Amino acid sequence: MTHLLHRSINTQLPVAVGGKGAYVMDQSGKAYLDASGGAAVSCLGHGHPDVLSALHAQLDKLAYAHTGFFTTDVAEELADRLIADAPAGLDHVYLVSGGSEAVEAALKMARQYFVEVGKPQRRHVIARRQSYHGNTLGALAAGGNEWRRSQFSPLLIETHHIAPCFAYREQREDETLEDYGQRAAEELETKILELGPDDVMAFVAEPVVGATAGAVPPAPGYFKKIREICDRYGVLLILDEVMCGMGRTGTLHACEQDGISPDLLTIAKGLGGGYQPIGATLMSTGIFEAFKTGSGFFQHGHTYMGHPMAAAAGLAVQNIIRRDDLLQNVFAMGELLAERLTERFGQNPHVGDIRGRGLFRGIELVQNRETKTPFDPALKLHARIKREAMSQGLMVYPMGGTIDGRVGDHVLIAPPFIISPEEVEIICDRLGAAVETSLASLT
Ligand code: PLP
Repeated sequence: MTHLLHRSINTQLPVAVGGKGAYVMDQSGKAYLDASGGAAVSCLGHGHPDVLSALHAQLDKLAYAHTGFFTTDVAEELADRLIADAPAGLDHVYLVSGGSEAVEAALKMARQYFVEVGKPQRRHVIARRQSYHGNTLGALAAGGNEWRRSQFSPLLIETHHIAPCFAYREQREDETLEDYGQRAAEELETKILELGPDDVMAFVAEPVVGATAGAVPPAPGYFKKIREICDRYGVLLILDEVMCGMGRTGTLHACEQDGISPDLLTIAKGLGGGYQPIGATLMSTGIFEAFKTGSGFFQHGHTYMGHPMAAAAGLAVQNIIRRDDLLQNVFAMGELLAERLTERFGQNPHVGDIRGRGLFRGIELVQNRETKTPFDPALKLHARIKREAMSQGLMVYPMGGTIDGRVGDHVLIAPPFIISPEEVEIICDRLGAAVETSLASLT
């Protein structure tokens, strides 16, 4: 009998006791190849000696200092590091403890910005269906995953959702991918006009959609058009790169590949690689200046923001990624993974789509490839795949389809940036076996 409340109360979990490189070990001595980095977190794998020594050194120096009393060298250095590599126009960093907190901070920054500049009527948030921005109430309101939201809906601030950019399901046969991207982006303009352009505060989106859809990249030109629309109506663009950012897609920030910069950028998971809980919100010069020349204060805060141990983890992880040129490996191994997934699943009648960027890949499972009909959610195909993969010694991140039936069961693959070609082969072999056994169990 456990007193720890687990996510899934009736599931018996193995006990993790160790980790080395791309592997996690359980109590029985079984090793699991961590092909999802947990939830796209462990970008350097487990037990990286240089991160451990940075953490030991920080612990010896100072474990905690409240940000109302002190700043610390390590937090300042991390902020400098993040801004040195930030998308153009972002020049200040707010350090928090995870992704949801980063999104909450971004929403509050957007709101306070408009209060500071004398436009308090700007209050509407627009986001997309099939998105996930976190589980705290503000972030959950922004997210468009009905399964996660539905029972809490009376507690959520009103958010307006438009269609995601999801070519596999939404592109019409008579349009090019580029034309589809423009059409999908135009939905934002329609929604802004419907709500009243002077009343809209921000548009929130994940550049590459993670947990709710399985590594869905945008159509070329989509985000350029989104940026133009936001600029035209003075709406702030918040990009949520909590999952897809910090190198996961092969560039430090996913939005680099779309050629745009947001006004606010959220990052987390890969920032500290799981060595400590950390997230951050990056803000533009314009927003910072409005705060500085206005109230001189951001009306927000958490006890553990800017935590020195978390900052030490973030700094060490980011320095190692740069020192060891790991984005190169993300790109090369990402290409290999895409190739192998296509070989393994390209002909499978139940694999509808194989997608993603860098080491952020997804496959979507469908009952019928022609009609793209998802499996009945009651079959819980994703849960069967997870169980099978774990029994094979493989961690992947499968998720169910959304309740509106607009996306099928999918599997997210997000291995550490240090993954080798041999480990890519193992991932595809074990995943192939897990998917086949799970599909066979449906009949
Ligand atoms: N935003 C995105 C895009 C995410 O994928 C997640 C988590 O999966 C979050 C926000 C929430 O992050 P956290 O679980 O660290 O609060």
